[in-house]
Amino acid sequence: MSDGIPDTAPFPFARADYPLAPATRYNIGGPARLALLPETEDDAAAAHAWMLGQPGPRLVLGGGSNVLVADAGFPGIVLLTTRLTRLEDLGGGRWRAGAGLALSTLVRDVMLARNYAGVGALTGIPGSVGGAIFMNAGTVNGSACQFLETADLLGPEGRRTLAVTPDLYDYRSQRFCGPDDVILGGVFRFSPAAEDQRPIFEHYMARRREKQPRGFCCGSVFKNPPGDHAGRLIEACGLKGARHGGAVISPLHANFIMNEDGATFADVMALIRLAKERVRERFGVALEEEVRVVAPE
Ligand SMILES: Cc1cc2nc3c(=O)[nH]c(=O)nc-3n(C[C@H](O)[C@H](O)[C@H](O)COP(=O)(O)OP(=O)(O)OC[C@H]3O[C@@H](n4cnc5c(N)ncnc54)[C@H](O)[C@@H]3O)c2cc1C
Repeated sequence: MSDGIPDTAPFPFARADYPLAPATRYNIGGPARLALLPETEDDAAAAHAWMLGQPGPRLVLGGGSNVLVADAGFPGIVLLTTRLTRLEDLGGGRWRAGAGLALSTLVRDVMLARNYAGVGALTGIPGSVGGAIFMNAGTVNGSACQFLETADLLGPEGRRTLAVTPDLYDYRSQRFCGPDDVILGGVFRFSPAAEDQRPIFEHYMARRREKQPRGFCCGSVFKNPPGDHAGRLIEACGLKGARHGGAVISPLHANFIMNEDGATFADVMALIRLAKERVRERFGVALEEEVRVVAPE
């Protein structure tokens, strides 16, 4: 390509012109110039080091459950962690999980199977372990980083392991993964629960089925402002059911913007802007996106 951004790489797991819409829960967005899908942590380290030496934008993608990709696609290199699915029992409630492991597998096959405490914090959250760590995904009952003892990261200086302490994470964010870093995975520490976790799991799964719309989306589009709920504010502005092209603010849950009928990136962005404008006008509250918008210049 004339811009110098590569569309080939010296790896068997490299793919040119890689469709990103099916790799996201929004099912929106054009292809990536180049995608790297390493199967081992060593391959991921080699791919990442190579990627850092290339021009153009870079992106790390896990389960794609919290990203909205531009229709023009991504004019750079995407490293997908989805094949890094290692899961290892280290004993004493400690488990090493790869970034690409589904968070639901960690919840079901480890926390629920061993009756570890905290199932209610992570039940029903789509996506990968790496994405959950990056976003500090969670619910009112807790969040992913709370269970993390150490995180394994790849950075410009290579691989490092970092002890995760509460000062390093916050509501839907953390402070240890830099812009050129990839989370390779981490060691989770769980404790035996006093009460049976199965009914807790069933309760929160049923709640999601009842309260959350099904379809192409990213879950909550906005973070909850302190002491309030983004969905309540958007609903109070009368925006449930508002449409733009194929996108709609869910009539069931106002913090969900659905790709209902072939929505484009611009359709979803128009509703994001509408919700932000109305909530600011009416309540003086600046909503902040939880969804990660992937639209390089
Ligand atoms: C129906 C639905 C319900 C949801 N409910 C919840 C909920 O209850 N609570 C909640 O917190 N979230 C929820 N979400 C949002 C989403 O599931 C979480 O944010 C999830 O943790 C994202 O993980 P992922 O692997 O899909 O990340 P992706 O969408 O792939 O990526 C999200 C961000 O993390 C970065 N990233 C991903 N993996 C890595 C890595 N290995 N290293 C460095 N950066 C990385 C990406 O670059 C991107 O910026 C919901 C989403 C949906 C669709």
